[in-house]
Amino acid sequence: MRIELENLEGGKGEFARVYPPDELNPVDERVSLIAPATINGKVRLSGNQVFVNGHLDARAQVECDRCLKPVQVPVDADFTLEYISGSQYESTEVAELTEEELSVSVFDDHGLDVDEIVKEQILLAVPTRLLCSEDCKGICPECGTDRNTGECKCVTDDIDPRWAALKNLT
Ligand SMILES: [Zn+2]
Ligand SMILES: [Zn+2]
Repeated sequence: MRIELENLEGGKGEFARVYPPDELNPVDERVSLIAPATINGKVRLSGNQVFVNGHLDARAQVECDRCLKPVQVPVDADFTLEYISGSQYESTEVAELTEEELSVSVFDDHGLDVDEIVKEQILLAVPTRLLCSEDCKGICPECGTDRNTGECKCVTDDIDPRWAALKNLT
């Protein structure tokens, strides 16, 4: 969904949308949506700036960092975003700052892509490292057995480093 700025009456508007997971997946290479995402918010246009605030409810799924088991992450986020127009961004003073330094995004002078806002908010809500549980034992690097559900017979090579030196001599 896009918000066309020229359609905003009096420079203001509201939006609401429920996204079926299929429409946004994959959110990125590690994150997917497993339940509909509900977004609603308000848009306000002020000169060359656009202010957006709203709320997102969603349920994302990420793989555990150690065992790759899917882990669900509820998303319940309030957001406030600020955009400046592309032409403003390219103009003299502002162009010397990067988008990051400004902590605002640039819009294309016509509209805002709500799909992108939803994806961005989901990614912000998902931790960069995530474990299925604090004491997840992970996967055996030798045979791929999930150590949370079973033992394997692999002998992992964790020899005392002092002995490892001797082993190299033979
Ligand atoms: Zn795990
Ligand atoms: Zn193993």
